[in-house]
Amino acid sequence: ARALEYLPGPRPVDDGLDFDRDHIWHPYTSALEPLPVNKVRSARGARIVLDDGRELVDGMASWWCAIHGYGRPELLRAARHQLGRLPHVMFGGLTHDPAIGLCRDLLDMAPDGLNHVFLADSGSVSVEAAIKMALQYMQAKGETGRTRLFTVRGGYHGDTCGAMSVCDPDNGMHHLFSGLLPKQIFAPVPDCPFREPFDPERFRETERIFRERQAEIAAVIVEPIVQGAGGMRFYHPEYLRRLRRLADEHGVLLILDEIATGFGRTGKLFACEWSSVTPDILCVGKALTGGTMTLAAVLATNDVARTISQDGGVFMHGPTFMGNPLACAVARASLGILRDTDWQARVRAVEGWLEESFGPCRELPGVADVRVLGAIGVVEMENPVNVPNLQRFFVDHGVWLRPFGKLIYAMPPYIINRDETARLGAAIHDAITARAHQ
Ligand code: PMP
Repeated sequence: ARALEYLPGPRPVDDGLDFDRDHIWHPYTSALEPLPVNKVRSARGARIVLDDGRELVDGMASWWCAIHGYGRPELLRAARHQLGRLPHVMFGGLTHDPAIGLCRDLLDMAPDGLNHVFLADSGSVSVEAAIKMALQYMQAKGETGRTRLFTVRGGYHGDTCGAMSVCDPDNGMHHLFSGLLPKQIFAPVPDCPFREPFDPERFRETERIFRERQAEIAAVIVEPIVQGAGGMRFYHPEYLRRLRRLADEHGVLLILDEIATGFGRTGKLFACEWSSVTPDILCVGKALTGGTMTLAAVLATNDVARTISQDGGVFMHGPTFMGNPLACAVARASLGILRDTDWQARVRAVEGWLEESFGPCRELPGVADVRVLGAIGVVEMENPVNVPNLQRFFVDHGVWLRPFGKLIYAMPPYIINRDETARLGAAIHDAITARAHQ
């Protein structure tokens, strides 16, 4: 330690952070004025360990993915086993047990009526595939006028072009590309909170727009119950039931994007179970592998699959890494953990702890709303927050949270404990009290 005192400069060794700043893009950042990043050494359970040894309670589950926590032995074992046998092989003309086993398990767990699986390598790609399925379905039926997607404002479905076209056009992330994107049909934000009585008035405008444009619509695409990156809103199950009915009435498909909500996050295995609604096409990703590998999937009904395939039709998509055996093996192990553990009790417990520790923020000045559903806790501020300031405050206070817009929120691994959850809530409370958000 004495030697370090005499070394010039703030960092005695090349830790790579200068290179990172000068040469590596991080999500949504400037190459000239990048936001500061923290370097991670390892992660275990619900903790992330930084390079300097500091331990942070993880409130993000790596953007919804790491539901079982980090370093979970079942997932590592599955990865090691598969790595030694067959880490990758093309899926065109070949198949393998990890893919077969995973798809069998997925269809077993998914809402009834879904019978076909297309394996993708990321959430956005699964949304592209889902949109193409809907468009091919309508073409195969001869309904060539049905070329648009109907969706709601406040949604988020990914950063590729098709996915961007169904995101909220005013979300500030995608407007640079608005000239290029297909023009979709948007209804207002589903402004009918999950925990309040459903007000049919709140559906009227959505219904009006749908009926007016119905002849152009191939499919409805929405995130069920929870709008994630578009605002962390929880809407009423009845809203989704009404969308399903409207779609059915007009022969329009329903695509549900459960990439964030799937695999237990809202307290149900799939968020659409809150409404007892089954989609025609379902997108899953993120937590599918427990956050250890990149994998996503699109599930479709017999009707969708057979209609596209009639008269020699083929589904026109095929990413290089689709069906990657390593990812499939890990995903299968992750579904196995869900099957073999009482994840529902865990998520219920986390919901209670989030309510307990985030609830006191309701009393603070500048807080517009605090809401909790399953293992998701949200503190919505009245004004946009200062993200770099807050991020620094949180790291200094031993937690990992990543606010955006007016939102400070957490969706931790399901294995987080009460004390760790309390630390997340206390850090948010202290940050607002210290005005670190301004
Ligand atoms: N849909 C939803 C609901 C999402 O939350 C995300 C990712 N935040 C995506 C799609 C895109 O997934 P990916 O980032 O894996 O492409």
